[in-house]
Amino acid sequence: MTGADEVARNLAELRAALADAGGAGVTLVAAAKAQPDERLDAALAAGQRVFGENYVREAEAHWAERRAALPELELHLIGPLQTNKAKDAVRLFDVIESLDRERLAAALAKAEAATGLRRCYCVQVNTGEEPQKAGIPPTEAVAFVERARTVHGLDVVGLMAIPPADEPPGPHFALLAELADEAGVAWRSMGMSGDYLDAVRLGATHVRIGTGVFGARPPKT
Ligand SMILES: *Cc1c(COP(=O)(O)O)cnc(C)c1O
Repeated sequence: MTGADEVARNLAELRAALADAGGAGVTLVAAAKAQPDERLDAALAAGQRVFGENYVREAEAHWAERRAALPELELHLIGPLQTNKAKDAVRLFDVIESLDRERLAAALAKAEAATGLRRCYCVQVNTGEEPQKAGIPPTEAVAFVERARTVHGLDVVGLMAIPPADEPPGPHFALLAELADEAGVAWRSMGMSGDYLDAVRLGATHVRIGTGVFGARPPKT
């Protein structure tokens, strides 16, 4: 079981490693899925303020109360979003990194109008064109960013990708950076516990790190 001091040590080491790799300005998004409350509190105590979540319900359980006391907290949705949860997601998350289809863009625009809230978005790109994985195909990504902005009025700030598990990630990170340049968006959310240093060298602005921060996710009970 990962203790509080271990989470604090992990965070300090990650921040140092990011700085060494030239990524002192890179935002570390702590991926909190399936992590127990005491590890979240340990990360907060160690000064971590940006967290990623995969599920709307779990994010509500993790953050509804904690956030009331921490207005500077920044929550990112990094998992797929169903259109029927768009309004809940817009209420809860500052950034939705998993914008991956036209119908979702329309639902999010409607949710912003209904709530009066404006959020930031990343378009998820399926750089490996894997059939089972969410994301816009690379060849359509630039046009999709444009449509999300102009047709749906969403504030698209960047691109996000999860490279195929069984390939070297470097070419996927390089492709995402190139597409972000082409689309004229600043954020490149790429890199996880196993490959975040490669991602930083290839221009990541955000790395999403779960086990590297919190330790292994406990088995579901
Ligand atoms: C779980 C998850 C991460 C973090 O993965 P680790 O290997 O635990 O660092 C990053 N991004 C997404 C989209 C995830 O679902």
